[in-house]
Amino acid sequence: MHELLTTTVFILGLCIGSFLNVVIDRMSVGKTLLGRSMCDFCKRVLQPIELVPILSWVVQRGYSRCCGKRLSWQYPVVEILTGVVFVVIYNLFYLQGGELVVTLAAMGIASSLIVITVADVKYRIIPDAALAALALFRTWSWQDRALSVFAPQLFAAAVLFSGMALLFAATRGRGIGFGDVKFAGIIGFLMGLQSGFIALYVAFVTGGVMAIILLLTTKKGLKSEVPFGPFMVWGMVAAMLWGSQLSAFFYSLF
Ligand SMILES: [Zn+2]
Repeated sequence: MHELLTTTVFILGLCIGSFLNVVIDRMSVGKTLLGRSMCDFCKRVLQPIELVPILSWVVQRGYSRCCGKRLSWQYPVVEILTGVVFVVIYNLFYLQGGELVVTLAAMGIASSLIVITVADVKYRIIPDAALAALALFRTWSWQDRALSVFAPQLFAAAVLFSGMALLFAATRGRGIGFGDVKFAGIIGFLMGLQSGFIALYVAFVTGGVMAIILLLTTKKGLKSEVPFGPFMVWGMVAAMLWGSQLSAFFYSLF
């Protein structure tokens, strides 16, 4: 029974991942989610058999069925990643006695973070819809929607948004984009002040290290605009998994 449910959750994740691919490629360029999926190359409308997650990619060996062009790795990678993340969340939340609503909200939050990561790497954009979805899923996960719950989260959102907005203004948008500023505010709303601060701290340290590595190993340098969104997502994951250790380390610095 347990294996059956885990498999079901994984397949659900694959299907949601397939949908996330559509969201990433349409939202980032301002297209609607309505309308049939087309081949990336010859624009022929895809048949239902070509839309089956993973299987269609495996059967077609990574090439489009219509015109034989190589399909992007993004499709299977996002599908499998979403499937694996859904199974992890199911184990961490639902199987540990968590509420179904909280488990589903966590899956929604994870899906939005996957969209933000891939869209920022591919299109250098953090879609507003993905940020709005993060806030909605977080609100949905709260059992108690009193002002005493919202107020500290809104305060954290305002602090982190303002901090990043100052940085955005100081660097004239060269270091980070305005999407990163909005994302920082949403991180405050989701995680609260302390965890949100740790998430951004981890993002800046790892993003900075990556920028230095790129500066030393390529000729592109800082101006090549390393997308910062994925580092913020990574910071959130780190703050969630190792938050207490990181905050202990942080307090030891002072
Ligand atoms: Zn084609």
